[in-house]
Amino acid sequence: MRPGLSHGVNSRVLNSGSGPASSVDFMPFQMLSACQTVCESVIRPHTSWQIRENIVLCPDSTNLCGKTAQTSTLMKDFKKLSLDDTFQFSCHSGILCFNRCCGDLNQFLTPYDILRLKQGLKLSSGEFLKRHTTHHIGPGSGLPIVTLKMQEHENLSCPFVSKTGCTVYQDRPGSCRIYPLARIIQRRKNQHTCEEFHVVIQEAHCLGFEEPKKWTVREWKKSQAVEPYDEMNDLLMEIISLKNRSGRKRLEQQENELFYLACYDLDRYRDLVFEKRLWEAYPIEEKVLKDLEDDDVALMQFGIEWIKGRLFGDIIGI
Ligand code: SF4
Ligand code: SF4
Repeated sequence: MRPGLSHGVNSRVLNSGSGPASSVDFMPFQMLSACQTVCESVIRPHTSWQIRENIVLCPDSTNLCGKTAQTSTLMKDFKKLSLDDTFQFSCHSGILCFNRCCGDLNQFLTPYDILRLKQGLKLSSGEFLKRHTTHHIGPGSGLPIVTLKMQEHENLSCPFVSKTGCTVYQDRPGSCRIYPLARIIQRRKNQHTCEEFHVVIQEAHCLGFEEPKKWTVREWKKSQAVEPYDEMNDLLMEIISLKNRSGRKRLEQQENELFYLACYDLDRYRDLVFEKRLWEAYPIEEKVLKDLEDDDVALMQFGIEWIKGRLFGDIIGI
């Protein structure tokens, strides 16, 4: 969970924070098979290293670049957990370290994180991105990455943390939910299937591990409502995988702008979809077309498919 709040009976009613954090360039702690990944941020400059994302794509162990090798070495220290494996942890508003993990984060936001946050805050995607984020091209992934801005005048605390916990608890990012776990998806080079497992990220400042409560990974993820985040992040991973297959290190500026628009700036993308009648190039049902008008999830799913065709159509035969 993280931060936040707790997992106790009433703790979810309160809000609370996030979880510790992470870092890899794109989504959840990911490393892609072609060593495109991003692991620069795995090591944070002034605290212990942190993983802030909930998906990790591990690199092909036979073909590591220096940076991914560094991450890979770290990953070796983790025990792989299946959904039925257990870990001991609890986070609640009475714990001494409460909110300690909701600051100084290198917090990457996935497209679905942004969708949920802008809806919860009742902001347009453009307004949310302007107020609360910065973006750059991931040095490893070569794709646009969006990062949550910490409050410089408030000891780099998360803009959404309060004394009583997370003020966006119902829509907090996936990495805040799944903490203290990280989800790893490992795809080895030349293999089409992925291995999924989870690891526990145990940080020294987190006292939640001293609490007696035990969870299976499955119970924890269910309690934190992580499933839609996993589903949407998996769609995005298809783009990352295509980019790696393309062998291109960087996209053209216009391609980056289209990716940013369709994945992050959803309300502006909706305008483009209807202004340019983008659906006409894709056979979609009347009902789906109607959904694009007012259903952000449907629009994001359409946008991800559109990006796949627009940027990597030569690979997928469109
Ligand atoms: S969104 Fe911010 S305040 Fe909320 S749990 Fe995540 S880091 Fe903490
Ligand atoms: S440091 Fe750990 S126990 Fe403390 S508030 Fe954060 S997640 Fe909860």
